[in-house]
Amino acid sequence: MTAYPTLLSPLDVGAFTLKNRVVMGSMHVGLEEDFGRLHRLAAYLGRRAEGGVGLIVTGGFSPNVEGWLKPFAGQMSNRWHAFKHRVVTDAVHAHDGRILLQLLHAGRYGYSPLCVSATAKKSPISPFKPRALTTSGVERTVRDFVNAARNAQRAGYDGVEVMGSEGYLLHQFLSARTNDRTDAWGGSFEKRARFPVEIVRRIRAELGDGFLVMFRLSMLDLVEGAATWDEVVSLAQMLQDAGAHVLNTGIGWHEARVPTIATTVPRAAFADVTARLRPSVRLPLVTSNRINMPDVAERVLAQGDVDLVSMARPLLADPDWVRKAAAATPAAINTCIACNQACLDHIFRNKRASCLVNPFACHEAEMPLIPAATPRRIAVVGAGPAGLAVATTAASRGHSVVLFEASAAIGGQFRLAMQIPGKEEFTETLRYFDHQLRTLGVDVRLDTRADLATLREGFDHVVLATGVVPRAVRFPGADDPRVVSYAAVLRREVEVGPRVALLGAGGIGVDVAEFLGHPHPAGDVNAAFRDFWGIDATSEARGGLRAAVPATPARTITLCQRSEGRPGARLGATTAWIRRETLKKLGVEVLSGVQYDRFDDAGLHLTISGAPRLVPVDHVVVCAGQEPERSLAGPLAEAGVAVHVVGGAEEAGELDAKRAIAQGTRLAMALA
Ligand code: NAP
Ligand code: SF4
Repeated sequence: MTAYPTLLSPLDVGAFTLKNRVVMGSMHVGLEEDFGRLHRLAAYLGRRAEGGVGLIVTGGFSPNVEGWLKPFAGQMSNRWHAFKHRVVTDAVHAHDGRILLQLLHAGRYGYSPLCVSATAKKSPISPFKPRALTTSGVERTVRDFVNAARNAQRAGYDGVEVMGSEGYLLHQFLSARTNDRTDAWGGSFEKRARFPVEIVRRIRAELGDGFLVMFRLSMLDLVEGAATWDEVVSLAQMLQDAGAHVLNTGIGWHEARVPTIATTVPRAAFADVTARLRPSVRLPLVTSNRINMPDVAERVLAQGDVDLVSMARPLLADPDWVRKAAAATPAAINTCIACNQACLDHIFRNKRASCLVNPFACHEAEMPLIPAATPRRIAVVGAGPAGLAVATTAASRGHSVVLFEASAAIGGQFRLAMQIPGKEEFTETLRYFDHQLRTLGVDVRLDTRADLATLREGFDHVVLATGVVPRAVRFPGADDPRVVSYAAVLRREVEVGPRVALLGAGGIGVDVAEFLGHPHPAGDVNAAFRDFWGIDATSEARGGLRAAVPATPARTITLCQRSEGRPGARLGATTAWIRRETLKKLGVEVLSGVQYDRFDDAGLHLTISGAPRLVPVDHVVVCAGQEPERSLAGPLAEAGVAVHVVGGAEEAGELDAKRAIAQGTRLAMALA
């Protein structure tokens, strides 16, 4: 008897029986381009197959040069490409997994001067103006797709996923928003749909029943002037008639200004959109977006309207997700917190992806976890993200670890972060670390402030992960009890009044603005999310957008910084726009280039561009960064102890959970 009977049940799709309902969705990780070294992609995907994933979809590979995501991006155009991919398909098949190659033509999203589209309209998120494909160019591109599918078959892939959503080329042809052609590939919906439908029909005709064809269909566009629900249904039926075996769900164009995968999006927020297609098609349906734990997946599947769940980031975070679900040990899952910080933000900066909570992700070939040759006794001081990463990684290598934590609970800065609306997933990371500490037998000493006397005896290594202290700001009135630190606010030690000024507009200033301003509506979180962002999941109007319901902020907030520029300037590209848009919706006033003059009963006195300004507030919250806390480092070194300093204790200016966990993990890998 399993805890997740539907999730773990097999499913016949085309000529294959998938061993469970988990699809590893396509996600570009930066290992796709490296044709000389596809063994790293093989190690990454093979590890997920080993962990039990039923069906894997690769990142996008273009059928030709015009379809490149960026110059020299992954491509599947000739036999040479096919030959290089053998190592990938072999790695997945070795673990009884199935794998599809995603065929992705970027169209006008291509970061390349060679890009093409239905018309010569530039996208708002790319600097390159596309060339409109000629009629014969469209026909050639259909042939290129079929050729790429044939090469995928030669490479040993079990099929292809044809990328028809997220605003890429096929979607650009499908949509009235981007296709006003007057030839056979534009005009009526049937003509706009002809390009993707023809690709599916021709791949099926050429490659036969034994080769799976999945189509990723946009079920909700979230941009003006895009598809209606009737068009979604018609396309699904046309693809079914053309021979597609499975329909996968795409949500939102990349240029949409509505979050679709960030932490603020409730879990399984769009599963009902996929389910709505059930009565209209016979094909297996895959649902997607913010499904990250087995109970969520099981609930969605057990309702019977969708057949498979697609997850990409959760399997980056934990390659053994399926195995742990099968063993009914969800507490052992390292849950994706949907932060995007080490995955999509890396890809946007042209860096290899990894994972904030799992630094081994995408580095499987280079970071084997080697057991310690000589087990050592290691003290770790501080149970924040850095200390937890050191303690658990060192223990998993066979070292004997004592973890000292001055407070009553593990977590450090994570305990503050999980208070922020939309960042509740951080609790999962702490649950995971807690499980690991117990399983690995780490000696955890809470409420224990480690001192020199304790640490100087009996340990081969001492790791200081003692974190940070909030930076104090000096100006007249800063010692008033109404001027408080962000830490005290997030720990709910202060009852903040209805008018508040925040000093410092970095990541934490933005977090605190959301914490204090969010209206926290009671009831259905998904309905509140849709109201806040103006989502019409029924797509009655083209594109699935409607007027947002104005938020009623909990407080009047003024966010100040001394420098010029936008708040949260250092936040990742994939989430910073969401955070700024949220501040706007919460009516937060942002003041840049300010000088803090004084605080008194009238409020906060500032100077902006030489002019005085009074902001009448009840409280001032200082979010001015942090200073490292590593006071034990000097005395320990003087006492001859091998001491290592990690995380915020080492570099408070770069305090960041991604860096802290990666640094802690790598240190623990090196401890000998
Ligand atoms: P931060 O990003 O360094 O921002 C500190 C803010 O304080 C700045 O706006 C700075 O702006 C101001 N400041 C610095 N020194 C000051 C002083 N002496 N007096 C007055 N103001 C001062 O630090 P943070 O916001 O505390 O965040 C810490 C780290 O955590 C950062 O790396 C951040 O990216 C990360 N973080 C990330 C997220 C996320 O969602 N990804 C969320 C929170 C934090 P001015 O100098 O212009 O006044
Ligand atoms: Fe998930 Fe964040 Fe890891 Fe990306 S970096 S896989 S969003 S936890």
